[in-house]
Amino acid sequence: MATKTPITVAYGDGIGPEIMEATLNVLEAANAQLDIEVIEIGEKVYLSGNSAGIAHESWESLLKTKVFLKAPITTPQGGGYKSLNVTTRKTLGLYANIRPCLSYHPFIKTKHPVMDLVIVRENEEDLYAGIEHRQTKDVYQCLKLISRPGSEKIIRYAFEYAVTNNRRKVTCLIKDNIMKLTDGIFHKVFHEIGEDYPDIEKVSMIVDIGAARLATTPEDFDVIVMENLYGDILSDVAAQMTGSVGLAGSANIGEQCAMFEAIHGSAPQIAGKYIANPSGLIKASVLMLNHIGQFEVATKIENALLKLIEDGIHTPDIFNEEVSRLKVGTRQFTEELIDRLGEKPGSLRAVNYTHVPKKLAKVNYIQRETIDEKKELAGVDIFLDWNSGTANDLGNELKKLNTAKLSLLMISNRGVKVYPDGLPQTFCTDHWRCRFKKVNDVSISNSDIIELLSNVNNAGLEFIKTEHLYDFNGEPGYSLAQGE
Ligand code: NAD
Repeated sequence: MATKTPITVAYGDGIGPEIMEATLNVLEAANAQLDIEVIEIGEKVYLSGNSAGIAHESWESLLKTKVFLKAPITTPQGGGYKSLNVTTRKTLGLYANIRPCLSYHPFIKTKHPVMDLVIVRENEEDLYAGIEHRQTKDVYQCLKLISRPGSEKIIRYAFEYAVTNNRRKVTCLIKDNIMKLTDGIFHKVFHEIGEDYPDIEKVSMIVDIGAARLATTPEDFDVIVMENLYGDILSDVAAQMTGSVGLAGSANIGEQCAMFEAIHGSAPQIAGKYIANPSGLIKASVLMLNHIGQFEVATKIENALLKLIEDGIHTPDIFNEEVSRLKVGTRQFTEELIDRLGEKPGSLRAVNYTHVPKKLAKVNYIQRETIDEKKELAGVDIFLDWNSGTANDLGNELKKLNTAKLSLLMISNRGVKVYPDGLPQTFCTDHWRCRFKKVNDVSISNSDIIELLSNVNNAGLEFIKTEHLYDFNGEPGYSLAQGE
């Protein structure tokens, strides 16, 4: 008897318990060797007063088994509840989210018969850091954080995934025409790391045209690497294009732990009806079996699922009069799948897993040598909550507060320069960025910024935040205002 691999399981909310029951029945019938610990997460835990949605003891199980099969959960709206999915991914260091999307033409109706791509989504950074502030009556802010090590990890992972899985091309989608620093570093790292993979075709595109092409010619894509937000949105789009969001599973991989889940949510509208498609979670369990080395069971389950799809036995989300034969609920779908364990599809390509996860599970992350950069303070952006006149009024007031070393260069409102030489047509809110730069070549320190802030404070102006302006080897580490 093979030794059992300990895993942690959560049934989740909404359709979660229905599709988890289906998945565990399939795993058992396929003779997966698993030692299952069940934890409670999600809505009930949130509503019991735990704002993280997960109890302390549950972390112990996760840190012990290091493998988590998770059904979707519902994050209650409002009330300051943090997304448990984001918390789990970040706490366990699950930096890579792998989302394969494949069409099953002609057995599942789709406008895209040739589609076989894998989205590799960065899982820890970007706007999902969830650092948000309301700074004035009118203006709310969310910080987008992209790091060089975070970008290196996910981009190397994407290339390693391509090599290990015989994929030919990696496409990077970014928006660095606008976000020159954050998306700019992601793009730069893509070029740097891509050089280590001469046999893989490398393409980068602005995310808007990339998304448009994905939606019209998905056959041109293979592996796609993206930051967190673009990856989240476009993986739902890609899954839905294959026929249903209910078809896609995903792996969240870190250096020590891994979590496997369907890409969709808890679908509260259909919860309790036993009509949900369990394929996404079943496919996530196949990714998990590969991760823990149970290749034979993984192969058996996926081939039975392919055969079932071919036989036209479909849940309502993928049922179509033209191609389907029998409309079934979750339980019958599961029974029919179990009946097919050991069978292979006739037309769809059967799988035969033997080795996939070695590199999939762990990519040794080697930070590129960072050049010894010279970081020099060049000025400060002072953000004001101010509502007492025009941009020119504010500029004239601030000029009087210049110090010997720092002088007002410009003011912008929501990123557009409004002083000096602003246009009266520009709409202004109560949130002003006032850029002070050092005068000539003097060197400045935090004390000079404190002196300036003290002038601003003494003038009765309300500063709500400051951002230091640094040059790195003489290159500005900050963006210019639109029109600056
Ligand atoms: P959703 O993915 O739950 O549902 C979107 C649409 O797809 C709905 O029409 C739903 O009925 C359908 N659908 C989803 N899964 C299906 C399946 N397996 N079979 C058939 N149809 C399916 O997205 P939503 O409605 O935006 O979110 C509902 C809840 O899920 C929210 O509380 C959200 O926070 C949560 N959520 C959780 C996760 C997760 O746990 N990983 C991910 C996304 C959303």
